[in-house]
Parts: sequence; C-alpha cells; structure tokens
Amino acid sequence: MKTPALAAAAVLTLATAAHPASVPSPSEFLGMTVGADRTVADYRQILAYFKALDAASPRVEVEILGKTTLGEDLFLAAISSEANLANRKRLQEVARKIADPRGLTEAETDALIREGKVFLFITCNIHSTEIGASQMAMEWAYALATAQDAETKRRLDDVVLLLLPSINPDGQIMETEWYRKNLGTKYEGGRMPWLYHPYVGHDNNRDWFMLTQKETQAVSRAVYHEWLPQVWLDEHQMGSTGPRIFTPPYAEPVDPDIHPLVWRDVNLIGANMGFRLEQAGKSGVIYGYVFDAYWPGGTKNTAWWKNVSGLLTEVASARFATPVRIEPNELSGGGKGLVEYGTQTNFPNPWPGGTWRLRDIMDYERIASDAILETCAERRADFLKNALARARAAIATYGPRDAFRIPADQRDAAGAARLAALLAEHGVELMAAANGDVYVPLAQPYGRFVNELLTAQRYPETKLVPGKDIVRPYDVSAWTLPLMMGVSAERATLPAALAPWRAVPAQLATDGAAFALAPGSPETARLVNAGLRGGTARVAQATVSAGGREWPAGTVFLDGAAAKAAAAKAVPGQSWTAVTAAPAAAEPLRAPRVGLYKPWAASMDEGWTRFVLEQYGFEPKTLDNKAVRAGSLNAAFDAIVLPDVTKELIATGKPKRDEGAMKYSPELPPEYTGGLDKEGAAALKDFVEKGGTLVALSSSAEYVIDELALPVRNGAARAEGFAIAGSILRAEVASGHPVTDGLPGEVAVFQDEALAFDTVLPGSEMDRRVLASYPEAPADVLLSGWMRGPEAIARKAAAVALTYGKGKVVLLGFRAQHRAQTPGTFPFVFNALYWSTAK
Ligand SMILES: [Zn+2]
Repeated sequence: MKTPALAAAAVLTLATAAHPASVPSPSEFLGMTVGADRTVADYRQILAYFKALDAASPRVEVEILGKTTLGEDLFLAAISSEANLANRKRLQEVARKIADPRGLTEAETDALIREGKVFLFITCNIHSTEIGASQMAMEWAYALATAQDAETKRRLDDVVLLLLPSINPDGQIMETEWYRKNLGTKYEGGRMPWLYHPYVGHDNNRDWFMLTQKETQAVSRAVYHEWLPQVWLDEHQMGSTGPRIFTPPYAEPVDPDIHPLVWRDVNLIGANMGFRLEQAGKSGVIYGYVFDAYWPGGTKNTAWWKNVSGLLTEVASARFATPVRIEPNELSGGGKGLVEYGTQTNFPNPWPGGTWRLRDIMDYERIASDAILETCAERRADFLKNALARARAAIATYGPRDAFRIPADQRDAAGAARLAALLAEHGVELMAAANGDVYVPLAQPYGRFVNELLTAQRYPETKLVPGKDIVRPYDVSAWTLPLMMGVSAERATLPAALAPWRAVPAQLATDGAAFALAPGSPETARLVNAGLRGGTARVAQATVSAGGREWPAGTVFLDGAAAKAAAAKAVPGQSWTAVTAAPAAAEPLRAPRVGLYKPWAASMDEGWTRFVLEQYGFEPKTLDNKAVRAGSLNAAFDAIVLPDVTKELIATGKPKRDEGAMKYSPELPPEYTGGLDKEGAAALKDFVEKGGTLVALSSSAEYVIDELALPVRNGAARAEGFAIAGSILRAEVASGHPVTDGLPGEVAVFQDEALAFDTVLPGSEMDRRVLASYPEAPADVLLSGWMRGPEAIARKAAAVALTYGKGKVVLLGFRAQHRAQTPGTFPFVFNALYWSTAK
C-alpha cells in the first residue's frame, strides 16, 4: 500500500499547487477504490491523502493536534475558502468573542456577526469499527477542494469546516489491520478480541468531561481553546437491522439546563439532513430515536453545556467493509422512538431490507454532511447570533458574584488542585485567592457547564405514555465531580481581591533523612510507587509519632533516596513533611507485583483499570486466560486484579445469554476464545491459599464468591424493583483496616448494578471485615443520579476484605475506578494492592 501513495505524493509536489486539476482524488492517490466492498484506507493513508490535499489545494489546511496514545499524529483539516483560511487568526478571534461576549457593545457584536464565519466541527470514527465516515471524509474533502460551482464556493465562504476523519487513529489502524488480516476467512468483518482504543475502547466516547485520554485532551484543546466552533457534528454508526440513519432531533429526555437555541439549531440542521436524504431517494431516515439529549460524557454532548450546537448521526453498519444482506423479517425497532419497525411520523419511509454496504454508509453520511454545511452557510448570521445569545444567557443565569469555591485546605488538596486544573482545561475561567482557594465564577460562558459538573444530578423522569414507565437513562446518570473525586467544592460569593488562577507546581523538599506522606489522596500512590523504585519506605499500621507529631495509620515514610526518586512525580497540591527518621513501629513497605486479568471479550473496564494502575505507577502485568491457567502465580504476583466482568465471562469467555435470545455474535479465532475454566479457577484459589491477594472489582466479585465459596453473597441480586443507572451513592467506611486507611468516614461510591453484599460469620480459619456499607435509611443512599428501590441495598456491605489460607481477598462491590472518573475511591484499590505485600 505504501508505494503508490508515495509515488503519488512525489508527483504532487511537482504539480502546480493552486491548480485544482492537480488535486488527486482519494482513489487515484491511494491506488484503491475508496468505498468499494472489502476496501478500506487506514489512518496513515488518510493522513497522507489529506497532506497531499493540503499541498495541492488552497482550501485545505492540515493541522496536527497532538500525538495519540500509540504515537500517531492526530489531525484536523480546516476546509474553507482561500480567503477565510488566509484570515484564519482573525476569524478565530471573532469566534472567541462570540463565544464570550462579555464587555462588548451591541454595535460591536453586530459587527462580529457580520464579519464572522460559522465554525463547523465534524468528528468521525471515534468508534473504530464505525469505519464509514473515515473514508467518506476523504471523498468529501476532495469534492470541497475541487468544486467550481457557485453554491459550494458560497458555502466555503460562509463556513470554516473543521474535519477530523478519525479521532481515534490508533483504533482505526488496529481495526483496518485486523480486517485486512481476516479477509477471505470466516472471521472476515468480525470483532477484534481486544480494545480498539489501547485503554478505553468504545468508552473513548465517555471521557469528555474527565479528559483522561490523550485524544480527548487534544480535541478538547482544539475545540475549547483554539477554534470555539458554534456547531459540532459527531458521525457514528449503529446496528445493522434497524433504521438506516439517525439524525437529530434527539429522543427524550433532554437536560433542562441546556439553552433551547441549541436544540433549535440542531433540529433545523437535522430536518435538512432528512430532507436532503429523502430527496436523494435514501430511505430509512429516522429522528427522535434512542439517542437522547442528556448526559455530558460524549464528544459533542459535553459541548451542549458550553453553548455549542452538538449533533449526532448514526448510520446502519455493514460488517466493517463487507456487505450484509438484511432480510425484511429481520428488521426491527430499537425501543425508544420506534417500538415496532414500520412507518411513523419520525420514520416516514422505512428501509425495506436488502444488501447494505460500505458505499451506502458513506453515501448517507456524505448527504448528511453536505446538508449540515448547507444549513450552516444558509444560516450563517443566525447561527452566530444564536451562539452569542446562548453565551449571554449562560452569563446572565447567575449573579455577577455567584461562584463555587474549591478550598485549598482540604483532606485531599491534590485532588482539589486536580479539579481546578480540569476545569481550566475545559476552558473555564478560574480565580485564585491569596490563601490558595480557587474560585469559579458562574457568570461566565461555561457557567452552566460548571454548575452541571459540580452539583448533584436528578434525572428527569420523562414518560412517553401516561401511566407507563419513565424513559430510562442511555448511559450513566451522575457526573458530580466533587463527589467522584472525593473533593469539596461549595457555592460561595466571589470575594473582592482575586487574581487569575494558574496551576502552582508542587515544590517538595528532598534534602532530608525521611519524609512523612499522610494518607487519603489517591495521588500519593504516584509518589509511593516512584519512591519504592529508588529507595525504601515504611507504612504505619496504627497511629505512630515522628517529627514531634502523630501520624495516622496508612502514613508512608519515604527515606531520602525514595523521596528523590518520587519528587518528580509530585502533582500540584501535594506536600510531605520532613521527619528525622521513619518510626520503627512502621512496617517496611514493598512495591506490589500486580497482575491484571484480561478476558478476550475486550473489556473496557480492564482497559480503564490498566490505565489507572499505570498512571499511578503500579506497572500492572496483563494476565490472559492461558497465563492464569498455567498456575504458579505466586512466583510473579502479589496481587491479581479482576476487572468488572461477569462471572460467566470470566469462567467461559462467553456472556450470559438470555433464554430464547437469538443474538448471533461472530466467532473469534480459537486462540482468542474461552475463559479461565476449571484450571484457571483452581490456579486463582491456589494463588490466594499460598499468600496472594485477589482484588475483585464489581461484577467479578460474584465469580470469586462462587469459586472460593466465600461467606459472602450478593444480597441485591434478586431484589424486586431495584434499578440504577451509573449513580453516586453514599457509603460509610469502617476504619481500622489497611484497605480503608486514610479514607474519610463517608465516601461517595459509583454504582451501576444490583450488587451489595451480605456476609455471614465464617469459621475461625478466616477473618472477614466489612470495609464500607450503605446507610441504614434507604432515603440516605442516593447522592446523585437515578435509582429505584434503595431498600434493596440499604445497610448492606459495599466492600468486604477477607483472609483466605495464607492470602487475602478484597471484594469491591462498586465501580471503584469507573472510567478513571472516580479518584475518590481509587484508594480502595491502591490500598488493597499495598495490603498484598503486608505481613
Ligand atoms: Zn459510535
């Protein structure tokens, strides 16, 4: 594939740059028929093509946004008239002022609206199997770069299109390689046995308020710091057997705190998409279906609270680039918005079934993409006016002195500093007081966004039919950052003397014999793990005294060498205290050797767990089924972590199947199938009996309970009427155990399933300790989000630690590191790992 691309690129540099005839089509350039059956361009080819377009056309400019997790160049292509691109800096300034019109007069904003262009941000292929848009992007860019008709020129005069053919290049490459490798075999078009983002897989569209991944960070920077677009379209694909394309309007529910002009822009564009698709003879176009307007985790969703009109399209999938044939009887509705497959007002022309191929996907996407460009051009002044109105309304929502205060002096000062830095990364304006407190003024363009992330959620219980059940949440229902991060942030009034906020780097002294690091912040793990690689450390099992004061259990004492090794890892807000020596009563601390179980089911929780453990310096080693089954695990590991996967999946490699369900999942090559089986279960049991520590996250606790016959059961498993969707619950923490050292008496835990433990008195060979429990009064359980039937888990245990043979078991019945968004409960995991090396 490389040779023709390089040759074409060489030819290009010789051609006259501004001459449209010299712009190669993607198929010519790549030496393949783009969009043909079983043909896909990989990300590197796509980038090479866009670079060639940039070189050949004055209407295209490639901008590298940063490196991906695996080191690819993440790019966007700015596509507009030559004059607009030449005037890019000024147009960006206009967009910035429209997004933040504070201090501008009416005359000034009127002039900005006359001068400004609509910035239309389009992201493709965040989900790597949803391959169509990455291919369509090349064809569309080529068409826009070469068009000579007046209408296209007018659109490019009024709009600056910011097109990202893939916002997960690593996964795009993995999936195209996997597809090419399996072409012509029975695995053609089947799923990969690993995640298509190195850490987070499909959850890369769940990272947009926490910004943990490089790709999310780079795109957020481009959107909220550089370009400030008014409109954002994210192009996806959905299943194969329903409608052909979803366009907005969205389904219920809608968050009442988003400005209604967001939905008016979105609905106008969505209507034009449907209009143009129908006109082109494309059937199966639906709106008001499945995809709702509530929850800020996804790309353009987060942007709704930042006054951006965010749209989604979802086109039916083929089997990657392999056509599928759907029989008419196989067509089905998707619940919300289309219960039975058939004609409705939101679905006036159902697709009748037949063959569906990559070309179809790209054609639908191209029409929808042209339609949004058309509406943005046609409504240029309106869309800029609306963006301005949204920003003004957001600023006016709160009083000029309304604010949040993030106190500097709090239990986890590093966590508090991290929250402030995250808000700043989001483009939020922060102020700092002389004592280090951070103030977040609410009367700013992103004030509603701030309020959304810093306060508790109450899910809108929308009903579509009187007397029937409410519309259930699409994803999680809570994202209250202070609770998830274990940090305090409270409503406050802006004091008079404030300075602009800036991150204050940690300054840790390293010249000394020993340093005491108080427990409580997840961030200490970075320092402890780095310290253990350069020196020695001790940990207090109970209150100890050193340097003339008392230190609580869990305090880590680093020697001078360890402190030198650790200091570079310090984050803002962190501190330690020089002491003359580590107290003798503290026990030596050893770095745990951590194994992380990885099923072949491409578990996102496995990826997130790996990410979190790596970020905090635990250097986990991956354990697949074969490695576990081989046994003798104690030789290499102190602790083994089972991510949140079901017991069926761990045992057999297959998900539990509902009776009568006909869902067919394509096979994987045999080396990527199976589970732990009997051998693996026996190996884990042997590991624990001989002194290892098994840490089970959420669902996997049920596997461990069964296989080790623990005196614990899931007491919520058969609870009638219980329901929950990613909510934040209150849990009371039991002190006096190494796993809970440093944690406050009450923590907010993230829960998304019916899981809470009952324990019974074990025999004398075993010790079991409840580490955390849900409150006794059901009304006290929910802190943020949505749940039903809290009595099913009230008073039950949320986490349990047991001794077993010479080893230990820790069952964490909540999502202790959910999507790397819950640092407040990371210490449960980290402490469990350190506990594995304790005597
Ligand atoms: Zn998707």
